[in-house]
Amino acid sequence: MTESPSRVAIVTGAGRGIGSAVAKKLAADGFAVGLLDLDEAGVKQGAEDIQAAGGRAAAATLDVSDAEQVEAAVTKIAEELGAPTVLINNAGITRDAMLFKMTDLEWDSVINVHLRGSFLMTRAVQKYMTAEKWGRIVNLSSTSALGNRGQVNYSAAKAGLQGFTKTLAIELGKFGVTANAIAPGFIATDMTAATAERVGMTFEDFKAAAASQIPVQRVGTPDDIANLASFLVSEGAGFISGQVIYVAGGPKD
Ligand code: NAP
Repeated sequence: MTESPSRVAIVTGAGRGIGSAVAKKLAADGFAVGLLDLDEAGVKQGAEDIQAAGGRAAAATLDVSDAEQVEAAVTKIAEELGAPTVLINNAGITRDAMLFKMTDLEWDSVINVHLRGSFLMTRAVQKYMTAEKWGRIVNLSSTSALGNRGQVNYSAAKAGLQGFTKTLAIELGKFGVTANAIAPGFIATDMTAATAERVGMTFEDFKAAAASQIPVQRVGTPDDIANLASFLVSEGAGFISGQVIYVAGGPKD
């Protein structure tokens, strides 16, 4: 490790939901934060909120599955804030359908955002981490990695991210870089609200039904994930690498 490695974090999908909460938490922890998303308004607002609270932040828009856009956004953040040494691969989408009805596009788009996106982002950021001899990578997996009806694309992507994480840990460990995955259960965000709509339930009823099946009897919040991300990127988590941590209000694996 260098004397004091650059404390700059990049969070993808930071425009709303879990990514937005993680960006705010890392800013409160003292990181300068690059907020990346497809949605310009969300990341601009997020960066302004962090700045208003006294932190450093910059926003960039991109599609994480596009290699050129990834390179451009990472370069922009590095120029504006400094070398990124923390990467949270959080951008995600669902395109749920039973296997027999799933289209090629539904399969490809989910695999592209989660897997190709995390690959492109990590390849672009690792050079800053290895130069700094310090880094932290956190990938957003899901309990769906264990199998979930109607999500053959999403569960394959989220299980793939677990293998991706373990291999990053093996390859990058000698550069002072750790890689871990957070696998959330039900977290109340626009993503789960959209699922409620798809199955014809109000979000309140959908959350209540989910909570009744969860040992701690509530659904998760974006802050539940941000709290673990904050720990995993901290100095104190330096001997934890290649792990998948389920944050689901009960045992899941
Ligand atoms: P969300 O509210 O839908 O937010 C996802 C964000 O990712 C959105 O801002 C979205 O932008 C952005 N995004 C989507 N595709 C992108 C792309 N190609 N390039 C850049 N940004 C992109 O979702 P969330 O619930 O916060 O989920 C965040 C992560 O946690 C995802 O990886 C998800 O799979 C995972 N997760 C969530 C849950 C849950 O219960 N919510 C559970 C397990 C895992 P737009 O607004 O422009 O679409």
